[in-house]
Amino acid sequence: MAVYMNLKNELKNEDFIERDFEVPFNSLELPEEYSSKEDNVKVHMFILKEKDGYMVSLSIDSNVQLECGRCLKHFDMDLKGTSNIFLSKKKPGKEQELHEDDLITEYLEDEEKFNVSELLREEILVQTPMKPLCDENCKGICPICGADKNTNPCNCEEQQKEKERENSPFAKLKVLLEKKK
Ligand SMILES: [Zn+2]
Ligand SMILES: [Zn+2]
Repeated sequence: MAVYMNLKNELKNEDFIERDFEVPFNSLELPEEYSSKEDNVKVHMFILKEKDGYMVSLSIDSNVQLECGRCLKHFDMDLKGTSNIFLSKKKPGKEQELHEDDLITEYLEDEEKFNVSELLREEILVQTPMKPLCDENCKGICPICGADKNTNPCNCEEQQKEKERENSPFAKLKVLLEKKK
């Protein structure tokens, strides 16, 4: 179940609000390779009312478990960060004002039903790498024997290179030339 916020009500008598709350991780509908050892994502939001929308400063504190793109091991990644997002009540189009480059503008369809989970999902996707690595120096899995080269170094690849060298036309030529001597 996604978490919603009624911005119109919450900011009825205020110019800005500040909120701390937690959102269940599984409400975010992240891709299935994302999991977390924490049940909730901690959120801190500062919301400022503006003429055409709301300025949101979103800070998250979360932990995700990702699969290493090289060795396929699962590893934890802490996510902490703050983003500024402008929720625009105007439909995206020509009239939309330009904001500073580092400001993300999102179209706010219904200010009485602002989807917090969706914003968090996008934030987590942006903060996690496309090809996550357990370690920058992860050696990955041997394509030949399947061993995890971080823990079980093997020499399959060297052996294969050796074989390729032996089978190369130059190696054969060399053998023939040796025989001639
Ligand atoms: Zn790895
Ligand atoms: Zn191997």
